[in-house]
Amino acid sequence: MRAVVTGAAGFVGSHLSERLVRDGHHVVGIDALTDYYDVRRKEANLAAVHATAAESGGTFRFHAEDLNSAPLKERLDCADCVFHLAGQPGVRRSWGSDFTVYTRANIDATQALLEAAREVPTLRKLVYASSSSVYGDSQAYPTTETLRPQPVSPYGVTKLAGEHLCELYRRAFGLPTASLRFFTVYGPRQRPDMAFRRLVMAAVRGTGFQLFGDGEQTRDFTYVADVVEALIGAAVAEFTGVANIGGAHRVSMNQVLRVLAAVGAPVIPVPGPRQPGDVHDTGADITVAREGFGYAPKVSLREGLAAMVAEERRLAALEALEAAAEPVAR
Ligand code: NAD
Repeated sequence: MRAVVTGAAGFVGSHLSERLVRDGHHVVGIDALTDYYDVRRKEANLAAVHATAAESGGTFRFHAEDLNSAPLKERLDCADCVFHLAGQPGVRRSWGSDFTVYTRANIDATQALLEAAREVPTLRKLVYASSSSVYGDSQAYPTTETLRPQPVSPYGVTKLAGEHLCELYRRAFGLPTASLRFFTVYGPRQRPDMAFRRLVMAAVRGTGFQLFGDGEQTRDFTYVADVVEALIGAAVAEFTGVANIGGAHRVSMNQVLRVLAAVGAPVIPVPGPRQPGDVHDTGADITVAREGFGYAPKVSLREGLAAMVAEERRLAALEALEAAAEPVAR
């Protein structure tokens, strides 16, 4: 398959790109390399994808471009699938004057991509990375796609607008789109603003961890490899429309702390206030994804957290080696 992955340097996008090239596909990656978090992490993600491409039958061509100004017709030429993962994530920063960053990245860029996609005759599917944050504080668990979305953060509003655009282009132009509502994705390379990453960094590097709220807030945590399976499954199946992608377990942050201790990475959190825009609970009903494209999450919380801890230890050791080598290099 010839696939275009937007947001290819990011957390989920780099895992998806790596999997596609490993399976022998030809991938065009686009990413603006925004500075929402350390750009060196994104460059390391890209290096991993290039390395995997070099030892597999697939190819990876990367373009450091903003979707709002990239030559999208050229980038999407002859594509079979477009995976649209580029976006400005993060609930907390979406309040206040930064909101235009969110509308540009999550709404304008999605519309520009859809306009280009509808001119591509070879295109079989455009898969959009939507979010559980479109639901807001749902009163029904597990949450089904028929529930009326009521975001409680400006971020959630922009992700819902992107999803509506995908649905609109499907109805208006017959563009086959699928929107996957991810429920808190975790795993190695997770963004440093996310709770699991901050937790694992605290365990491995001894940095403090501030727990927002009382720890009884629950999340449906989804391991990144399961999300990659869902993205590819939705791309190759007949499925169009909206589907929840969860990890099939709803657990509290306090339970997560216990699992971390069990895998040898205990953390003592510093209590902090609940943050505006943070929902109290999330929990996905994944029936639509299971019936639509055979989605079945496989990775347990314990296995997933152990993989994150191992990756953080590897990174910390590498950084210590680099720091030790620096004076010699000078
Ligand atoms: P990420 O920040 O690691 O990756 C997103 C990438 O998009 C970044 O590398 C960024 O540079 C790029 N980008 C931003 N604006 C761009 C633009 N205008 N043009 C080109 N590239 C641009 O985030 P992630 O955690 O990998 O999330 C990927 C997608 O999944 C996002 O759209 C996010 O909203 C969605 N999502 C993620 C989660 C999660 O738990 N990680 C949950 C729900 C939804």
